[in-house]
Amino acid sequence: VNVFAEVVFPIPVDRTFHYAIPEALRSRALAGCRITAPFGRRKMTGFIVALMDKIPPGPFDIKEIADVLDETPSFSGSFLSFSRRLGSRYFASWGEILQAALPPTLLPREEKKIRLTPLGAEVLAAEGLTKRDREVAILLRDGPRSPSYVAGKLGIKDPGPRLEKMQSRGLVETRVVARRPRPPVESGPAKAQRQLEFGFAPSGPSALAGIESGIAAGEFGSFYIMGPEDARRDAYARLIQATLAVGRRVIFLTPEISQAEALRGSGTAGPGSSAVLLHGRLAGRAREEEWRKLLEGRADVVVGPSSALLAPLAGVGLIVVDEESDESYDQAEGRLFDARGGARLRAEEEKAVFVRGSAWPSVEAYHEAVAGGGLIVLESGRRKFAVTVLDDRGEKGLLSNALKARLSERLGKGDPVILLVNRRGYSPYVFCPRCGHTPKCPRCDIAMGYHRKGEQWVCHYCNSRLPASSRCPKCGGTLVQRRAGGIEALEEEIRKLAPRAAVARFDSDEAGREKERDRVIDDFRRGRISILLATRLLFHRSDVPRVPFAVMLSPETLLGLSDYRASQKVFQSIAKMTGFVADDTRAEAVIQTSNPSHFSIRAAAAGDYRMYYDAEIEIRRAMNYPPFTRLAEVLFQGADPRSLARKSREFRARLEDRGGDIEVLGPALAAVARVRGRTQIQVILKSSDGKALETLLRESLEKIRIKKSVRLS
Ligand SMILES: [Zn+2]
Ligand SMILES: [Zn+2]
Repeated sequence: VNVFAEVVFPIPVDRTFHYAIPEALRSRALAGCRITAPFGRRKMTGFIVALMDKIPPGPFDIKEIADVLDETPSFSGSFLSFSRRLGSRYFASWGEILQAALPPTLLPREEKKIRLTPLGAEVLAAEGLTKRDREVAILLRDGPRSPSYVAGKLGIKDPGPRLEKMQSRGLVETRVVARRPRPPVESGPAKAQRQLEFGFAPSGPSALAGIESGIAAGEFGSFYIMGPEDARRDAYARLIQATLAVGRRVIFLTPEISQAEALRGSGTAGPGSSAVLLHGRLAGRAREEEWRKLLEGRADVVVGPSSALLAPLAGVGLIVVDEESDESYDQAEGRLFDARGGARLRAEEEKAVFVRGSAWPSVEAYHEAVAGGGLIVLESGRRKFAVTVLDDRGEKGLLSNALKARLSERLGKGDPVILLVNRRGYSPYVFCPRCGHTPKCPRCDIAMGYHRKGEQWVCHYCNSRLPASSRCPKCGGTLVQRRAGGIEALEEEIRKLAPRAAVARFDSDEAGREKERDRVIDDFRRGRISILLATRLLFHRSDVPRVPFAVMLSPETLLGLSDYRASQKVFQSIAKMTGFVADDTRAEAVIQTSNPSHFSIRAAAAGDYRMYYDAEIEIRRAMNYPPFTRLAEVLFQGADPRSLARKSREFRARLEDRGGDIEVLGPALAAVARVRGRTQIQVILKSSDGKALETLLRESLEKIRIKKSVRLS
């Protein structure tokens, strides 16, 4: 009989805990169920991950599980093993991953309760309390209450200090209790809930046959579908159909909700598979209902952003990660895992086919797809519009004269126009106006940041420092610092140029809310807006109308990013800009840049991915970056820069003690040196042995008690 349970809690501690299961709960305590149990001095909600009839002997007392919260398990066995691997791979605890997989309405809530102690009751009865303390004690006489209840009854704002004083005298005590989540209510279809229909193309390229046979065989396989959006969508529809035909299910990841919603309208009503959208913008109850549909097998397809990877559906046969190179899949601050790596893990675990796709793959993914034989290229016709590169060196203002002339001509004809800027150029951004060169670290080949303190350029990877000379090392020209032109400045210039034109902005400040963004796109489509100014935020929209004239301003500012992927970002942002241009001989895409000869800009202008890739892969090889090595970026955060610096040096020392085939760069101030008053310090690890890297990281990070995030590539 299983009388013990192995339990994890949603805390950043990477281990499991053992509990005894009391007789009365044994029939209900199953693996995958949520439970409450005493943990330290309080009761916490956790998850049963395994049951056992005996446990390893230990010095500790075995406590009992207090309650089982689920009638049926929230997680299947295969999901449990997947989530364990996912957590371990990305340095999150198993319990944290399980918590992230639950809809918020099922998340354990904890409450503080204040209780009168026997001593308190005694003193109250003996009339030994002051007036205020007495009032509190009387409130608590009939049972524990929350501090806010006490505050409300006594008419005071913060009862904290009084309660603390009483607690220190032993009159009251505080307990944290887990509140049992409300049971689900059967609700009608919520407003945000949508049935998705996938249109099925009757035939498709025979190249997909290989993927289809993998799906039919129920084997893990990895593929990359490279091609324009329309062609990809048809291919996905065919693969989804093939998966449903063998009775298996589909996880479809796409970076933005508008893209997920666009899938709904992607075709005619096909054989109605039930698909659900799962994302953070669904209201609590609606999201829980969609989640239950997946858990109970009432839906076969889930569509959503990274978080949908944790959807509870069983029998997954196909996992698609569309727009593979999108940054929203990255393991950045606040995200527990990298969605691409995580999707591969889940596909392996479920013996599913793993398909990534985009028009412009990341260098790593393309390299792997070519090497592994899983690359499928869907042909796109030659584009009919022209792409022009305008050199803005020596021009004043954000808009060059040549661009102004083109804009005026287009506006005169009544053509709608899109102008894109990169606000992501971290300033101050140092560059040579004569040759366009950005000073780079000779060791790391990434752009160096300028630090006023000490007049230095600093490499954010290896912490190398060079005196900030004012001469360009390439051509001897005078280096200048400039800020990447922001969208506000652009708006000002455009309004001067075309005072009567209807101008709108699409960026996170001006069009902050989703509704507002939808409205801007809608107005643009209806012709109420003639000039749309946008940041990279626009790339996530698949409902932008194609225009006869689109412009990318200063893509080279992205080369100033302290990131080995900088040139990939340049290529991709230009390539995506050209995606907004109507495929028409009268249409034109313009790139205005002060670095027109950079290979990423030339290749993007030519629309030639292979040209970009061939140049970039050689740099990656020479400088030893992924895909030729595994790289881990460890970011430490702390309010006190000194102790942060000390701890990150300790971390480095610990890594070096272990030796092995691992290169350590840093600690160095991160490219974004301060975030919300906290200093950020980065340490980079490189190794050709991914397993060794992960093991070393795990062991070395364990002892560093500061806020940290790790990004593996
Ligand atoms: Zn120069
Ligand atoms: Zn360096």
